[in-house]
Amino acid sequence: MINLNKPITYIKGVTINRSSLLYQELRIKTCADLLYLFPFRYIDKTQFYKINHLQNSGSEVQIVGKITHLKTIKQQRGSRVVATFIDETGSMELVWFKGVKWIKESLKINTPYIVYGKLNSFNNSFSMPHPEMELLSEYKKKVQTAMQPVYPSTETLGSKNISNKVVRTLIQNLFVEIDGRINESLSEQFVKQYNLMSKKEALLNIHFPKSQENLAKAQYRLKFEELFFIQLQLIRKKIIRKSKLKGYSFENVGDKFNNFYNNSLPFDLTNAQKRVLKEIRKDVATGVHMNRLLQGDVGSGKTIVALLTMLLAIDNGFQASLMAPTEILATQHYNAITELLKESNINIALLTGSVKSKMRRKIHQQLEDGTLHILIGTHALLEDKVIFSNLGIAIIDEQHRFGVAQRSKMWKKNELPPHVLVMTATPIPRTLAMSVYGDLDISVIDELPPGRKEVKTVHRFDSNRLAVFKFLKDEIAKGRQVYVVYPLIQESAAMDYKDLMDGYESISRDFPMPKYQISIVHGKMKPADKEYEMRRFVKGATQIMVATTVIEVGVNVPNASVMVIESSERFGLSQLHQLRGRVGRGADQSYCILLSDVKLSADAKTRLKTMVETSDGFKIAEVDLKLRGPGNIMGTQQSGVLNLKIADIVKDTSILVEARNAAIDLLTDDPNLSKPENLVTLNSYTKHQKTSGLWANIS
Ligand code: ADP
Ligand code: MG
Repeated sequence: MINLNKPITYIKGVTINRSSLLYQELRIKTCADLLYLFPFRYIDKTQFYKINHLQNSGSEVQIVGKITHLKTIKQQRGSRVVATFIDETGSMELVWFKGVKWIKESLKINTPYIVYGKLNSFNNSFSMPHPEMELLSEYKKKVQTAMQPVYPSTETLGSKNISNKVVRTLIQNLFVEIDGRINESLSEQFVKQYNLMSKKEALLNIHFPKSQENLAKAQYRLKFEELFFIQLQLIRKKIIRKSKLKGYSFENVGDKFNNFYNNSLPFDLTNAQKRVLKEIRKDVATGVHMNRLLQGDVGSGKTIVALLTMLLAIDNGFQASLMAPTEILATQHYNAITELLKESNINIALLTGSVKSKMRRKIHQQLEDGTLHILIGTHALLEDKVIFSNLGIAIIDEQHRFGVAQRSKMWKKNELPPHVLVMTATPIPRTLAMSVYGDLDISVIDELPPGRKEVKTVHRFDSNRLAVFKFLKDEIAKGRQVYVVYPLIQESAAMDYKDLMDGYESISRDFPMPKYQISIVHGKMKPADKEYEMRRFVKGATQIMVATTVIEVGVNVPNASVMVIESSERFGLSQLHQLRGRVGRGADQSYCILLSDVKLSADAKTRLKTMVETSDGFKIAEVDLKLRGPGNIMGTQQSGVLNLKIADIVKDTSILVEARNAAIDLLTDDPNLSKPENLVTLNSYTKHQKTSGLWANIS
């Protein structure tokens, strides 16, 4: 038996030339690489379709029937042959654009054929261009092969005669050499418990399935295994973190928390907020280090949860920090929290890039002597000079890039690292969160505060702009304020600025001074100017805010009730959702108007339709995930986990959940996989860990 780590040149039929091509094109080097080159689809020649059962799936099908009629249609260059093809259930067309003469002469009318090929559909009628044709009588004489694998390929491989058939033969040869001796990677008992196909059978059937049923079992086994080892790693990491990494214990719920909760809380918490708070309290009271991700849609009320958590820290003699991505947002947090805590004697400070050095020194001083309780700010918090005397909790708001906090010196004086709470308004679909942040604790606020009116969302074409402007005037007459947002894409920045300025001019014409006041904010402005314009809008001195997406994050102007998004087809779903979240914050009915060109791509249509149909951030995130794929959503940082060979995080949700539960059950029973019956799994796990090397620095 040959060793799977040997280069593929050990396999019969692999010349040096072929091996270097396979490496160059598909990164296949060893026998194992070839064994794990999985087909991405199968040609199912075991199935015959009836014409009235055909689906518009773009798939390849096989049909038995007869040609009743042939005609030649002249076209601009040459001609095409169209055959009417029928079976007992219906009729369709077969079409040839090439070899027309030969086709016409060789095809037999009214004789049973098997046709095979890819379907096109138009207005519910189907056609098949350039089908493979075989007389039924010929077909019946031959031995039939079952489903045929189709392997990933490249143009170069095709042109160098490494066809799908060649790859198939090489893999066949490989199976002959390894002679069926493929080691099981999961323990026997485990394979039984989860009713899995054996590894050996699974690998054989993924390449050469004997039936649809066997293929399904093989796919399940391999997907399950792939997801299982990732989950095993994540959950083990979480267990280790929880058992090894000590954290401060906030045992007491003290005066600060209780006074605020009982006397100053401006509203009742939603059940979701209460639940999350309980989850946090349970975490921080145990002496274990908390590393928690708090997901909650825009407006779901994360700030109050953050505040209560900070009070808990203060009650236990610690300091707290809250970091936001922009100055505007940090300032808003500072103002809101100062207002909420005005009855208390808690010392709060704001630290951003524009804080003067005298104030800065004071903050540094108070931080170090412990008299400052809460520090709110931007990335300025991460500067070396910012050193707390005892930071108990670090909260990061609206932050996608994890890991920043770790580089800071904030808790240089700490004995233990502070608890970390990361809050994000970008809902991550559950399965994706499970895979990418599976080792973090995750809390979700999945309920909006009561009385919130859903933002009415409509999609209008640019040609309706006048009607839209009329609507804006009516809303402004009622005292409301309006956002008009333009896209700003790096690659087309110059054009985008021009669009923004053109738009601004046209709005200025339609909404003339002094009746209307307009603010404009964009990325090329100096921070101070931006801030000034923002303030004017926040104060209500201007009624219209024309902006690029800089207003995306967190800004809160309750009186703004209309969000107009220009060229909305150019925005991603999560961005649209974030923008819409800027309105609907006050008591009035709010609106979101998506303006677009008439010409829309299929994806753009889906995005706009989704926005009109739902305001549930998690649903929107699911659609986004389907449209863009996990890699694009999470960025390349986590590409390791998303770089799956066979499983698909979007489609294989249920397998993912099963694999995760299996991993939890196994580790609950045997945390170190030290029981003899788990030895096989342990060995595979160790190997898997060596090769994957992901997970380094998520938190
Ligand atoms: P986000 O999760 O987007 O950060 P915020 O914390 O800014 O949301 O809350 C949005 C608004 O909802 C704020 O004005 C806040 O005062 C209000 N709010 C939060 N929780 C509740 C609640 N339980 N009941 C009523 N209003 C609430
Ligand atoms: Mg917020």
